[in-house]
Amino acid sequence: MSLLTENLTGLTVPFSPPYIDEDIIAEVVDTLRSGWITTGPKVQQLETLAKDFIGCKQAVCVNSWTSGATLVFKWLGIKPGDEIIIPAYTYAATALTVLHAGATPIMVDVLDDCTIDPEQVRKAITPRTKAIIAVDFGGWPCNYGQLLEVVSGDEAKAGFTGANTVQQGFGRPIVIADAAHSLGAIYNGVSAALASDITIFSLHAVKNITTAEGGLIALSLPEQFSNDEVYKWMKLNSLNGQTKDAFAKNNEGAWKYDIVADGLKINMTDVCAAIGLAQLRKYKDQLLPARRQVFDRYSSLLSGKEWAIMPSAQDDRRISSFHLYPLRIKNISEQQRDEIIKQMAENGVAANVHFIPLPMLTLFKDMGFSITDFPVAYRNYANEISLPLYPTLSFDHCVYIAELLEKVYLEVI
Ligand SMILES: *Cc1c(COP(=O)(O)O)cnc(C)c1O
Repeated sequence: MSLLTENLTGLTVPFSPPYIDEDIIAEVVDTLRSGWITTGPKVQQLETLAKDFIGCKQAVCVNSWTSGATLVFKWLGIKPGDEIIIPAYTYAATALTVLHAGATPIMVDVLDDCTIDPEQVRKAITPRTKAIIAVDFGGWPCNYGQLLEVVSGDEAKAGFTGANTVQQGFGRPIVIADAAHSLGAIYNGVSAALASDITIFSLHAVKNITTAEGGLIALSLPEQFSNDEVYKWMKLNSLNGQTKDAFAKNNEGAWKYDIVADGLKINMTDVCAAIGLAQLRKYKDQLLPARRQVFDRYSSLLSGKEWAIMPSAQDDRRISSFHLYPLRIKNISEQQRDEIIKQMAENGVAANVHFIPLPMLTLFKDMGFSITDFPVAYRNYANEISLPLYPTLSFDHCVYIAELLEKVYLEVI
């Protein structure tokens, strides 16, 4: 751990500092010296590397998960009156993008493993349902097999009317993965990003791979769509609907352009892409295994503690991307959980909570949502503590954190 992060947080163990080494700094400096700092060759390289890593057909870089979702909704032609089903237990951005599109968020409860409950989704589908956003909580993939079964069921299909050619191409509500946490997660032996209809990653500073702020849309659309055409549409509509990006215009004699769509302005810069590019080169062999090692260390240190409910890491279909270590503690109240986090902070460890369920936040309360309708989300939240998790977290620190946690827990209960 660098002195810088210690000084920044005032804590011995920060929660999730970005991974910055000399190779990453060199890649950024290379961009700065190249004379080209906005969307250009580094974004293109990052898209190619991401596409190869994920195994998808196309990858589109944008400036956040949130704007990526806005672009996807624009492509789907989401309109006021449309309903999008989301879990109540997620970060606010999942719901905010639905509101930005003018659509209505329909919240449902989650399962014990914090992923959206496919049975609740089935019950929430109406003729107005256009999409479901499934959140891979902490990097743990949703049950995409069951979700696709639900949206492809006779009932869901019969009620569905496609308002445009994209919606008609699916002929049913579409399953969007909020994969903000789950780059590198596995479903049925391949990237979990291939298990939904369309997947959006976040490259925000705290995520497994970061471009400071950024997002990535992974496309592996069914055969009625051309992934190359959709890629072109998304690139065009992420940069003002302009036929040439600034880099292409910069070539000699290529100044002329046209505006052919009411595009958004959500392109990623090369300076940002350089950070993610240098990180992603190390992800599969170094950074992701290092995250798993920290995760597994916590699990072995906490195994045998009757008060600890360990998070899911692997089952017969899924492997996590180990974004979070969302530990839950048996039989504690929300107040006791808050006290444990406070005392850990006083002892130099920054723990965190994922997430405050949306119906507990003012905006959504004012919209009429009530947490009493989402008992599992509340239960999962009330006793949850996310422990620090990042590739450079040492074995000694993990031992210290686990010991501190037990000491504080015994004091608080
Ligand atoms: C971080 C996060 C987002 C938002 O990502 P941005 O890139 O900041 O827009 C969305 N959903 C979840 C679950 C997140 O954790």
